[in-house]
Amino acid sequence: SGRLSTRMQAVLPSPTIAMSQTANLLRAEGRSIIDLSSGEPDFDTPENICRAAKAAIDNGKTRYTNVDGTTDLKKAIVVKFLRENGLSYRLDQISVGTGGKQVLCNALLATLNDDDEVIIPAPYWVSYPDMVRLAGGVPVLVPCPAEDRFLITANALRDAITPRTKWLILNSPSNPTGAGYSAARLKALADVLLEHPHVMVMTDDMYEHLRFDGWEFATIAAVEPKLMDRVLTVNGVSKAYAMTGWRIGYAGGPVDIIRAMATLQSQSTSNPSAISQAAAVAALDGPQDFLVDRGAVFEQRRDLCLERIRAIDGLDCVTPNGAFYLFPSCEGLIGRTRPDGKRITTDTDVVMYLLEEAGVATVPGSAFGLAPFFRLSFATSTENLEQACDRMATACAKLT
Ligand code: PLP
Repeated sequence: SGRLSTRMQAVLPSPTIAMSQTANLLRAEGRSIIDLSSGEPDFDTPENICRAAKAAIDNGKTRYTNVDGTTDLKKAIVVKFLRENGLSYRLDQISVGTGGKQVLCNALLATLNDDDEVIIPAPYWVSYPDMVRLAGGVPVLVPCPAEDRFLITANALRDAITPRTKWLILNSPSNPTGAGYSAARLKALADVLLEHPHVMVMTDDMYEHLRFDGWEFATIAAVEPKLMDRVLTVNGVSKAYAMTGWRIGYAGGPVDIIRAMATLQSQSTSNPSAISQAAAVAALDGPQDFLVDRGAVFEQRRDLCLERIRAIDGLDCVTPNGAFYLFPSCEGLIGRTRPDGKRITTDTDVVMYLLEEAGVATVPGSAFGLAPFFRLSFATSTENLEQACDRMATACAKLT
């Protein structure tokens, strides 16, 4: 219809949110559904953070703030980048928005002209291509196979760059695969980028604090300081501090881009919640030791799921370095037949079968740009995970 903009018609609804809604619907019908489709920690926000929010309310910190973040929060972010990443940003190089999602979207809207290209390694977080389309750009999807642990190689990057390339988006550890870039791998990408000065990098470090087996997180602006003026380092409190509902994300980057993002935000949403910003200061400045404890819990859950998934005939899985997702291959199930006689031909068929037969909600890899795979989140209780794995094993064994 003519009511919607052509720009909007190119944007698809988030498939992960769609799957959570389907799971909720089935649950409302009385089915027992274990939801492994959503991307949020099952932990509560730590108490010191909640206390800071309550204090903010009691102390009247309930008004408009500076559009792209309070000075207190920007200071805490500057300290965080230095302490944890070895990156020195000034206050005027920091932008705070309503979640990492808004920050990423602001950056794309502020920089893309029609038909500018954005290189997105696939599998990718579902929102990147649609955000790029919303901003008038063209997502250039680069398939990164399981053999390369779903990471873009220097050669694949070189081949994808054109004179129209504006950004490369990196996400490490990755949603949906959990694969992370080592400093050495980032250096190899940086060397290619140094040959192409017109390309900028948006690095989404949202899962920095969720990592396993002593894997060392690295971020590209720190690995190659010569890129500092071309990198937007995006992070947030949602995943690390179990603060998904508080909606605070942030970035450090070049002043011209940060300033344009603030202008855009000033004409759209203005500041993120003042109370949430006060809470985020407490998260970044407060004790960090619980991150290690929670990381250990996630690592146990990862090990449990990995072992159980690999034991299922027809499934296989790369070991993730971080985040809280597994991205198993279901290639071995393609071509098999369900008890009701339907043939499984795609990963969406696999996901629908697991939902209908096993009552386990996951998301097809095709939603993330690589098939045949599916994503499951292990950010839920061990009990839920064990039950989900049992049910998936039973359902898969029924395929012939
Ligand atoms: N980036 C990635 C890779 C994510 O998985 C998410 C959340 O699912 C976000 C960014 C956005 O997080 P938020 O907007 O809650 O900061």
